[in-house]
Amino acid sequence: MRYSVLVILFFVFQFDGVFAQNDHCGQDVQHTANLISRYLSEAPLAPRDDQYIPLVFQLIGDDGGNIDILYNDIYEAVCLTNGYFSESGLQFYILSIDRPFSSSSFEDDPLGNSQLIEMTQHPQALDIFVANFSPASGFDLFSSFTSFTYDAIFIRDEALNGTSQALAHQLGHYFHLLHPFAGWLDVISPEEYYDPTGGNSAVAILPNGIVTELVDGSNCESSGDLICDTPPDFFFGSYFQGCPQNATILDANGQLIPWMPGNIMGSFVDCPTENYFFSPQQNQVMLADYLNPEKDYLRELPAPTLGTITQETVVLIAPISGATLDFNGLLQWTSAGENISYIVEFSRLPGFNLMHEQFVATDTFINLNNCQDFDPYNYYWRVRPVTAGNNCTTSFSSVESFEANPCIDITNDKILQLEWRIYPNPVSHREGLQLSTTLPSPQVFSISLSTITGELISRQKQEFQAETSIFTIPKPNLPTGVYLITLEAEGKTSTKRLIVQ
Ligand SMILES: [Zn+2]
Repeated sequence: MRYSVLVILFFVFQFDGVFAQNDHCGQDVQHTANLISRYLSEAPLAPRDDQYIPLVFQLIGDDGGNIDILYNDIYEAVCLTNGYFSESGLQFYILSIDRPFSSSSFEDDPLGNSQLIEMTQHPQALDIFVANFSPASGFDLFSSFTSFTYDAIFIRDEALNGTSQALAHQLGHYFHLLHPFAGWLDVISPEEYYDPTGGNSAVAILPNGIVTELVDGSNCESSGDLICDTPPDFFFGSYFQGCPQNATILDANGQLIPWMPGNIMGSFVDCPTENYFFSPQQNQVMLADYLNPEKDYLRELPAPTLGTITQETVVLIAPISGATLDFNGLLQWTSAGENISYIVEFSRLPGFNLMHEQFVATDTFINLNNCQDFDPYNYYWRVRPVTAGNNCTTSFSSVESFEANPCIDITNDKILQLEWRIYPNPVSHREGLQLSTTLPSPQVFSISLSTITGELISRQKQEFQAETSIFTIPKPNLPTGVYLITLEAEGKTSTKRLIVQ
């Protein structure tokens, strides 16, 4: 069950009379403050194994169905984020990347589309809604937002990639971290934050009533982010651009603030990507929050299969060197390991500056099935192996090209919706081949075997029984190579690749 905490946005909360703010990234400050105090008063939890947390990326297009995000950027963002969380005991994996609906009104006002959000949400994963949020959405300044109404994160597409801290920052909020500069976002002018009598000293109390954090730690549990191993972070009307390494800023006691550029929850921007971090106590809060009953729903799925990369790049097999795509729209490449996925990108330009189409494949081939998406032009394509949780080390294959002509006319309504498998696969010359499926009622299929270029080798009709049906094909007396097995019924087909060793 998803546990919802009602948040009234832009409402000012009160905490012990001194801590009052909403802080712009969507936190429920009072609830968060109570949790932080509790987590830090408990003995730190020792992470045993990494806890893998399922993420579902919900890509929302405009009314025309267009999305701007690259699947590769999503994998890069998860990889970067897992690096930032490596000391916390928490790791993330991509359960799925979905395109549930398209709506320009969502881009303007995501939280105003509650029905669409609730219909789309995965009950056992953390949803990350990604869209090209418009200026009207209020996402201009922060590019991302955490909603405790929906237990979801919203990120502008351009902020989700292998260099931005936006995902890690929002996950910090989702696990109930506050900004070290909490309370300062309302403060905009030097007259408001400099003590008029004290040079570079900050005022003790901001105009919004917030007591500023002191370097001596005497109020670190009730000021700023309520966490004592992050120093005061005074947000003087803007982020610290360019990741400055020092500055002379004094607290209200006149003590020099130790400079801490690069805290993921802090106000420093443009630091080198590898310089960002969470502090030990921030990690302690996040792990405790993950184990809090509010987050039970994240722990219901079985441990994920993360896959093993044995080759960090793949080699494209076909089509290459401008060859015409075969009749079946089949593209294939070498395997990079067990239980992994492949990002397949297509562009009209060899530099891939403009993406034409992209897929995530779970096998070492893909069938292009949308005639209209591939007009008869030359296309460039490349493939990158990725795993659900960690894809830092792999890279794209060399680029190859093909001619998409004639049009590959296998539209979705001609695809047989059927789960079936062939095994063993690869098959040796000496073995028989078995084919199994599960059906609600008996059904007759035509089973055909063809070469990779579509030349028919054999075809036979076979009735499959209801429930689980296993059918043995006589041993394939075929030369070593890759073949296609196609099931056909009522004018619809489903094709799988067979390797003969
Ligand atoms: Zn924030």
